[in-house]
Amino acid sequence: MSKRGILIVISGFSGAGKGTIVRHLMEKYDNYALSISMTTRPPRKQEQDGVDYFFVTKERFERAIEEEGLIEYAAYCGNYYGTPRAYVEEQLSQGKDVILEIEIQGALKIKKKFPECLLLFVMPPNVEELRKRLVGRGTETLEVIEERLKRASEESEGIEAYDYIIRNEEIEESVEQAHRLVEAARSAPARQEAFIRKIREELKTIAKGAE
Ligand code: 5GP
Repeated sequence: MSKRGILIVISGFSGAGKGTIVRHLMEKYDNYALSISMTTRPPRKQEQDGVDYFFVTKERFERAIEEEGLIEYAAYCGNYYGTPRAYVEEQLSQGKDVILEIEIQGALKIKKKFPECLLLFVMPPNVEELRKRLVGRGTETLEVIEERLKRASEESEGIEAYDYIIRNEEIEESVEQAHRLVEAARSAPARQEAFIRKIREELKTIAKGAE
């Protein structure tokens, strides 16, 4: 059986560039699997059902909660967002490093349920840049942009709960940084338990032989 993958949470303020980092990680490396969330938010122009999100009604979302089909969910700016359970568990057990691109409330729930997960937070180089990116994206009204900036201010209070922050100044460098952090996380003792156990047992056997 292949080794269990790492569960990676990538959060960041709306417009900080986390979506772009994730897209590049997926294109460049083959160890990642990207979880597709379920949401009650209406699709944006270019978004496709089953690709960007599973776009569902509030009733369908609430049924998924009742059936325990989501490993976490949260309300964000008036809509529900949640992570379907089956795909994440299946990919982790196949050894894939699974990326959840989710906001902070969900991230904290994941940390509680899966303490060995890796939490990354993507920051813009400065706040002016954040506003520029949100406006430049052209997918939201000014009202929604203001709401998202307000939300960013609230979310900024929780950043210390994350393992690492990525200061997104240059996209290629941010992608490499994220990948290096995942590779480093693989070496943590908590993720090497079987290997540590094996070496310990071998050492014990040798020590016994020498008695
Ligand atoms: P957007 O509407 O811009 O696509 O997403 C809004 C926020 O919801 C983003 O911060 C995004 O990362 C987050 N989000 C997307 N999917 C999920 C999810 O499954 N769970 C949680 N908790 N947040 C999510």
